[in-house]
Amino acid sequence: MRRVSILGATGSIGQNTLDLIRRAPGAFQVAALTGGQNIAQLAKDAVEFQVELAVTADPARLEDLRAALGSSGISAAAGEAALIEAAEVPSDWIMSAIVGVAGLAPGLAALGQGTTLALANKESLVAAGPLMMATAAAHGARILPVDSEHSAIFQALVGEDARAVDRIVITASGGAFRDRPLADLAHVTVAEASEHPNWEMGQRITIDSASMFNKALEVIEAKEFFGVHPDQIEVLVHPQSTVHALVGFVDGALMAHVGPPDMRHAIGYALNWPHRRALPVERLDLAALGRLDFAHPDPARYPALGLARQVMEAGGHSGVIFNAAKERALDHFIAGRIGFSRMSALVAQALDEVCDTQTPGSGCDTITLESVRRWDHFTRQHIDRLVAA
Ligand code: NAD
Ligand code: MG
Repeated sequence: MRRVSILGATGSIGQNTLDLIRRAPGAFQVAALTGGQNIAQLAKDAVEFQVELAVTADPARLEDLRAALGSSGISAAAGEAALIEAAEVPSDWIMSAIVGVAGLAPGLAALGQGTTLALANKESLVAAGPLMMATAAAHGARILPVDSEHSAIFQALVGEDARAVDRIVITASGGAFRDRPLADLAHVTVAEASEHPNWEMGQRITIDSASMFNKALEVIEAKEFFGVHPDQIEVLVHPQSTVHALVGFVDGALMAHVGPPDMRHAIGYALNWPHRRALPVERLDLAALGRLDFAHPDPARYPALGLARQVMEAGGHSGVIFNAAKERALDHFIAGRIGFSRMSALVAQALDEVCDTQTPGSGCDTITLESVRRWDHFTRQHIDRLVAA
């Protein structure tokens, strides 16, 4: 029986992971679960799966969690240190599905126990790719991608020689506003941005899909994960979200991963790796689908993609700055303080202004958890100052 833990269990990825575990009775034992504000869900799942430890990220909710767990005998804990504790509960496989850079420290702790880390939390690779990869290597841990595009690339590479890869093509749905007149984008609402045409996901990644910040993060994620040169990564708008990614080889062959937009495929692939298990995802009827469309993304509609290129060129801590600026700008958009188009403008400004304050040669280019925290904090404050001005 495989012992598994889920960081971010109450979210969209976490719940889909539990759905798959529930459908495979006897195959998995759940050791630890973490969540945030949704205490009822966390406690319900903790009791159903008889876990050892349930953790809420919010210390103010610890008593609620204890009360909800009642006489189950399950240990409860709260706060950042407790998230690390959950990641250190001995497990064969840990899902990293916290949203945002908050997932970095627990992810590193999981890698520190030499486990297999199923990585949905792309932000940790964007902010600290070299640190994540080095930590995995130092502890003999393995990282398996869960982002659908990266799972697709990973699967297309099975049995292949990585040196024969010529290019990687990542597809993007184009998000909620792909057909909106550009002039309207400044005035779209949070509710509109939170509706994805094809995928069911958490609110933040759904809005990031509309702005293509999600794709921007994924391009950086692909560079860090697969070690390819930025020029080898292409993005294409593919409105059907059926081809998730393609790998092009030096002989001109293109291997595509094709499937319905259901995260349970990528999660299930990582959960059962290196084997495949039957998964409850729709079987595609290609004839019914009829056609697949692809187009180059319009840089004026999706400035985030150009910013990702800038980040990959700059290296160092620019990934942390990019991600933190994006996360904070998104907070301000969700709170109604700024318009949709202002998000990319703010991130561009933060990249210019905050990156300038990085002093090369003073140790700033070595990425540590501490340095990530410092630059993350500094950038968020910078965004707050820009919004308040
Ligand atoms: P979500 O918002 O639905 O869930 C996020 C989870 O993280 C919840 O359990 C929440 O309680 C927890 N959380 C939130 N803030 C936290 C904090 N500060 N500290 C600790 N825990 C916190 O998000 P999601 O859509 O499931 O996405 C999770 C991650 O997976 C993100 O990194 C996202 O980019 C990535 N991802 C998601 C999808 C998808 O289909 N939803 C696809 C690809 C990648
Ligand atoms: Mg994705």
